[in-house]
Formats: sequence, structure tokens, C-alpha cells
Amino acid sequence: MPELPEVETTLRGVAPHLVGRTITDVDVRERRLRWPVPRAVDGLAGSMIRSARRRGKYLLFDVSSGTLILHLGMSGGLRVLDPDVAWKKHDHLALRLDSGKELRYHDPRRFGCVLFCEGDPEQHPLIRSLGPEPLGEKFTGDYLAGAAKGRKLAIKQLIMDSHVVVGVGNIYACEALFLAGIHPARAAGKISRHRLVNLVAAIKQVLAAAIESGGTTLRDFLNEEGQPGYFKQSLNVYGREGEPCRTCGGLVKRVVQGQRSTFYCGSCQR
Ligand SMILES: [Zn+2]
Repeated sequence: MPELPEVETTLRGVAPHLVGRTITDVDVRERRLRWPVPRAVDGLAGSMIRSARRRGKYLLFDVSSGTLILHLGMSGGLRVLDPDVAWKKHDHLALRLDSGKELRYHDPRRFGCVLFCEGDPEQHPLIRSLGPEPLGEKFTGDYLAGAAKGRKLAIKQLIMDSHVVVGVGNIYACEALFLAGIHPARAAGKISRHRLVNLVAAIKQVLAAAIESGGTTLRDFLNEEGQPGYFKQSLNVYGREGEPCRTCGGLVKRVVQGQRSTFYCGSCQR
């Protein structure tokens, strides 16, 4: 599943090809995504893309009449291509541009979406209840302490709740909790403010590192193979069940929380 760093890297990869360009044609070949692609998307020919930005894992492309909202779902990806490149299976939609290129949306499992919002996209039902951006200045230790106060919920599940903070996926939650030395199952409301400050810093660190490593794959968006995968960064615990902890040498454990695998070190994380 594309996580926030992959979505941010996708944005950085496609934005220079989109902003300031006029859409000359819209080619929708499969409307049945998570929600049907609305007819308003077809009507975007002639519109100039004013800006391209990200909110959580949603990509927002602003035109004068509104905002195109894209989500990559479980398996989606965007590529900038010459229009004569053959459509692959699961290529569902393309925006042709006055540059002669096109932006093509690919999604084998069709859990993603391509929607159009005429008003303020921050008020769109999919976006308005989202918590702050993890790398933004609103996401602080004080903010997380407020969100955790009185909560019996496991800290890992709290930081993966998009109403609390967006874009902290499973890998990044596991790695941030390891860096902060916090046991993933600890009740959120029982963790000191000082430790939550460290956790916020760790979340920002792992996401920023992932985005930075993604920068090296930007050129992939220009060719046919440009599917962002999980970024290869040195993982301390994720996917390392039974292997030695890099800090203490104890064995990394795996438990299931909220139907997701959690990896942690029982010695380093309390
Ligand atoms: Zn350890």
C-alpha cells in the first residue's frame, strides 16, 4: 500500500509536469474505482492545473473550477508518459496535457479514487476530519499528549488513527515506537508527556528519512516502470521477527494489533 512517503514522492515526481499545464483531453477507460469517477472529471479539458499538493494520502490538483482529488488506494500509481505508450492492464484514466505528455492512473485493485470537488477541498467529506500532517508544525508533543489524554487505546493504534494524525502507516509506526523506546501496546493515556514528545520527533524522523530516500527514485516517474515501492531504508524492527535487536541483541517480537503485525523489542520498548 502506498504510504505517506510514497505519496509525497509521487507528488514531487509528477508536480513539475502538471503545474501550469492545461489539460487538453481526459480519457477515462474504467470508471469503477472505489467510487465511480464522476463526469465532472471528463469535463476538465481546457482547465489549467494551478497547483499540486498533498493532504494526508490524498493528492489535490487545483484548477479554476475546483480540485481533482486522487487517492492511490492499495495499489495505485501515477506515471507521466508519452500518449503513444501502450495502455497496460489496470491503466484506468489519463489526463492529456498541453506539454504533449499525459498523466496516467494505474490501479490493479481499484481501491483508489479520482474525484472532483467544486468547493474547498479541505471541507470535502474525505478530508475535513483528517488530523494534522505528521511533518507539519501542528503535530507536536503537546498536541499528541492532548489526543492521548485519558485514552486506554494502545499507543500504536492511536498514532495510526488518521483522525489523530494522518499518514503514519504500519511500518513507520513500528519504527517510530522503537526509536522512542515505547512499547506499542502501552495505553496511550499512561505515557508521560516527555515520552510523547520523543515519539513525535521519532515519527517525523522516520517519515522524513523515507521521503528523502524516495527522492532518489523520482526519475522512475518518467518511465513505464515508475511504481513507487516501499523505500529501502534500514528498518530496526519492521519485518525482523526473530532477528536480533540492533540495540540490545534481544530477539525482535511480532504481535497482532488491530489486524496488523506489530514488530518490537521487548527489552528496548517499555
Ligand atoms: Zn532491543
